[in-house]
Amino acid sequence: MKPILPGATIGVLGSGQLGRMFALAARRMGYRVHTLSPDSETPTGQVSDIEITAPYEDLDAVREFARNVDVVTFEFENVPADTVDVAAGTVPVRPAGAVLHVTQQRIREKTFLQRLGLPLPRFRIVRSLNDLLLAVAETGCPSVLKTAGFGYDGKGQVVIHSADQAAAAWERLGRQDCVLEEFVDFERELSLVAARGVDGAFAHYDLVENRHRAHILDLSLAPAGVPQGIQAEAVEIARTVFDQLQVVGVLCVEFFLTRDGRLLVNELAPRPHNSGHYTLDACVSSQFEQQLRAVCCLPLASTRQWQPAAMANLLGDLWVNGEPDWLAACSHPGVKLHLYGKLEARAGRKMGHLTALDGTAEGALQSVVKARDSLLR
Ligand code: AMP
Repeated sequence: MKPILPGATIGVLGSGQLGRMFALAARRMGYRVHTLSPDSETPTGQVSDIEITAPYEDLDAVREFARNVDVVTFEFENVPADTVDVAAGTVPVRPAGAVLHVTQQRIREKTFLQRLGLPLPRFRIVRSLNDLLLAVAETGCPSVLKTAGFGYDGKGQVVIHSADQAAAAWERLGRQDCVLEEFVDFERELSLVAARGVDGAFAHYDLVENRHRAHILDLSLAPAGVPQGIQAEAVEIARTVFDQLQVVGVLCVEFFLTRDGRLLVNELAPRPHNSGHYTLDACVSSQFEQQLRAVCCLPLASTRQWQPAAMANLLGDLWVNGEPDWLAACSHPGVKLHLYGKLEARAGRKMGHLTALDGTAEGALQSVVKARDSLLR
């Protein structure tokens, strides 16, 4: 496959913070970036050469966008299949539409993972209230009902504590195709970010520990500090997923680690991931540079980490008393501030993050938490 070299133009579908950090990595290496999404003045658009504002369903706009770039990638995996097909009719789209197809929908994703024999929480496909009642009887309670079409940050899911809550849960999620999953009493949540090139080359970062608050990622510790066997198993699972899906780009596998030491795959994200943001400050090459290299058919770079690190998300809630105290955050000299340029802060909205390095991930965690606390006036 012919490499797409610096000076070429990358098209990004989607325009959030993932696209922004990707565009910054691409521009640093001398590429041009165009972005298309329904919004304007976006995190990605602000740092791109050209920002196109059009609905993903505007296939003429998508065709025109694709004509002006050398390769298309995405930062938002819920781009409609037709949009990807139209772009792919003009230029390479990496990862391919087939990867999106599997990972956009929970029933397809779980069926795919199950077919590969990978470890998953027990689940049942639910297409009617009757299916749900049977599934609850089989799976037991508590269990989690999740819509098949992906929500994000815990949207589109309800915990069912007893069979008599099933009908209300079914109504609440809008009577749509779902999966019912056993509630996993996990010890920790982990994730593994990796990249695969067109030639099948594979590079991974270490397992990261993720702590959530109200279903939204709050803190990541890198590395997670799990036994070597768990790390090796996670890498093997990720490698199987990448090879079977023929992923060209970056993908994150999210896991639960159960109290009895088993890894279970929670879900796949076919793009850089919030839990990999620490790689910008802590590694030889970031997850965004790996995505760039993979989609441009360049060799993958080193994933080596300089020091243990931690990341704290900055959510819109921090704006509750007005603009956060940036001076205070910047007075922690070892803490790096990343802001995504979002024009409006809303509760739960990811506005930026902080990263710190230290001799241990726990030490780094204390630094980012302290710096984040100092933001609130
Ligand atoms: P998801 O959107 O599926 O990644 O779910 C968001 C978060 O909800 C996860 O990161 C977990 O904290 C929690 N969660 C999801 N599924 C389960 C489950 N089966 N058991 C326990 N917690 C879950």
